[in-house]
Amino acid sequence: MPEYKAPLRDIKFVMNELLNSEQHYASLEGAEDATPDMVDAIIQEGAKFCEQVLSPLNQVGDKEGCTWSEDGVKTPTGFKEAYQQYVEGGWPSMTADPNYGGQGLPHSIGLVMSEMVGTANWSWGMYPGLSHGATNTIEAHGTEEQKQTYLTKLISGEWTGTMCLTEPHCGSDLGTLRTKAEPNADGTYSITGTKIFISAGEHDMAENIVHIVLARLPGAPEGTKGISLFIVPKQLPNEDGSAGERNAVSCGSLEHKMGIHGNATCVMNFDGAKGWLIGPENKGLNCMFTFMNTARIGTAIQGLGAAELGFQGSLTYSKDRLAMRSLSGPKNPEGIADPIIVHPDVRRMLLTQKAVAEGARALIYLAGQQVDVVHSGKTEEERKAADGLLGFLTPIAKAFLTEIGYESANLGMQVFGGHGFISEWGMEQNVRDARIGMIYEGTTGIQALDLLGRKVLMTQGESLKGFTKLVHVFCKENADNEQLKEFIEPLAAINKEWGELTTKVGMAAMKNREEVGAASVDYLMYSGYAVFAYLWARMAKVALDKMVDGTTEEMFYNAKIQTARFYFKRMLPRSRAHAETMLAGADTLLDMPEEAFAL
Ligand SMILES: Cc1cc2nc3c(=O)[nH]c(=O)nc-3n(C[C@H](O)[C@H](O)[C@H](O)COP(=O)(O)OP(=O)(O)OC[C@H]3O[C@@H](n4cnc5c(N)ncnc54)[C@H](O)[C@@H]3O)c2cc1C
Repeated sequence: MPEYKAPLRDIKFVMNELLNSEQHYASLEGAEDATPDMVDAIIQEGAKFCEQVLSPLNQVGDKEGCTWSEDGVKTPTGFKEAYQQYVEGGWPSMTADPNYGGQGLPHSIGLVMSEMVGTANWSWGMYPGLSHGATNTIEAHGTEEQKQTYLTKLISGEWTGTMCLTEPHCGSDLGTLRTKAEPNADGTYSITGTKIFISAGEHDMAENIVHIVLARLPGAPEGTKGISLFIVPKQLPNEDGSAGERNAVSCGSLEHKMGIHGNATCVMNFDGAKGWLIGPENKGLNCMFTFMNTARIGTAIQGLGAAELGFQGSLTYSKDRLAMRSLSGPKNPEGIADPIIVHPDVRRMLLTQKAVAEGARALIYLAGQQVDVVHSGKTEEERKAADGLLGFLTPIAKAFLTEIGYESANLGMQVFGGHGFISEWGMEQNVRDARIGMIYEGTTGIQALDLLGRKVLMTQGESLKGFTKLVHVFCKENADNEQLKEFIEPLAAINKEWGELTTKVGMAAMKNREEVGAASVDYLMYSGYAVFAYLWARMAKVALDKMVDGTTEEMFYNAKIQTARFYFKRMLPRSRAHAETMLAGADTLLDMPEEAFAL
């Protein structure tokens, strides 16, 4: 397994040089504590924890997995102790509301920590990650009493949380869920039903688990308009706030799965469990939407982590492993062969992983800044603009990054040749762990419908224009910069084409609604490559400016420019295929009668 090394230089590049974090934090309400020194110290400490505590447990988690018994679920060796250390370090409270024990730091700093945790050990990171979802829900929609009872415990890390949405017959289509919530005389509800695939649904890492459950009230309207949201604790809270009597919720079994073995994926049975309504009746899905963007950005990090971990492993290996000679003559004449890093095809694989990891970091941190502004922007106008941009970027980040992150994990394995397929190197684990990213929190197909249908076409292209305007301004400002020409010209071209393609798909959709579904995944992938082009051009500009000003880190900045060049010449052209395919028409998919899909 590659030992994870937090890429601190690149993290700082994106935060400070690309996205001007200092200025950004100064512009927020109540972020006075996020001074550069403070932010730096947090990231350094976080990196140490991830490298020294979490990374060594990654392979342990994969090998041991979780075990179920009548008494509960046992997590892999070391997971519980690592969680204890995480709690003692105050990490769960970092970005939470100070009124309930949080430190109130901007969410974007939490995302940097999530990146390091998730890359070091994704399965472990899901336990606090899910708590984060529960925390956000109660923070946004809970009553004062619910906040005092549950939020304080989630924020301190004493209790963890889950999100119980999926049922055996539905995951994407939550409108059909069947779990029932029947009112009790005391104002509570009896929750009955089965939820499946519940991450961190049961474990031994914390003294209580707070389930956030979607269920239907008696007589609720059908579909998504009849869903309500409930808090269902594993143990009912006592008067003094401690975890008391056991509630009627239990883990029936654990799923056997392809990857993320260290995380307990549970079948949860609610047998008349006591629950409390959060938010208004029948508005459960609306409540969930308020934090969905943050949760989805959290999942997008899995793509970044997979690319980073694959890159770190394959980089070391490609410098050590000797095979054949460079086509232009020996590069290691004393050795029996050259290291494989001399071969163009190995370079292709390394640079793809590097371009994906660094581009993904830039996209996630940019989205993180929008989350900050949505929560703590000083004006309503700022908050609204950030919300619009975040809503547009979220499905792209979630689906595009998990897709190309998975591709990168695969390339990481390929660099190792046969050894990549063997467990001890950890590359096959990275591939197995990364695969789920494209499925949960809304599959790639569902994200693509969200982007093209809800975000772009339903706003008459407004959300797209919000982003393409940023790109346009950047291109205009740098139009005369000769050194940047190789990036600005193709960027301006794709930015223009993006709008034209959207119009064409929109026109086709007016004649036939099926065109939306037929174009959507290609549209999303095209959008991902376009967003990356903008970010890589901006990164190239920062690096070129540094080189002009003079720097002692020439190698770092040169590598940025060279990676940008690689991206523009060797990855961006993929957008051509997506452009053509998205216009290929729904008939190429739907003309074949269903009966013809036969064996
Ligand atoms: C390891 C793991 C952990 C998970 N953790 C959680 C958790 O903590 N909490 C939770 O609630 N759930 C969790 N899930 C569930 C996960 O979110 C769902 O599996 C996912 O949303 C897909 O739902 P589904 O499995 O029902 O697939 P379906 O909805 O049946 O989809 C099947 C296929 O049909 C496609 N599809 C469906 N509808 C459309 C459409 N309208 N247009 C185009 N394509 C469509 C989908 O893209 C997919 O390819 C987890 C799942 C796994 C495997």
